[in-house]
Amino acid sequence: MNTLSLTDKMLTRKILCSVFGHKIITTRNITPNFREFECTVCHLELTNDANGKTTSLTPHLREVNETLYNFHNRRHHIAV
Ligand SMILES: [Zn+2]
Repeated sequence: MNTLSLTDKMLTRKILCSVFGHKIITTRNITPNFREFECTVCHLELTNDANGKTTSLTPHLREVNETLYNFHNRRHHIAV
């Protein structure tokens, strides 16, 4: 029954989001142009792609962001 009620709770959150919209916060700044976001209600993870469109944060995109983040920081350090 516990597992079932937990699933119900997650389903309720998803329904809340589909009715009222996600409550998105920025969780990480990758570069000034790339950010990672999360919905505080259903914990959906998002990021933005090269075109500036918001898309779901897949393991692949997380890896891309990690590379971008390292590259950006290294370049920034050399510039300073
Ligand atoms: Zn949500």
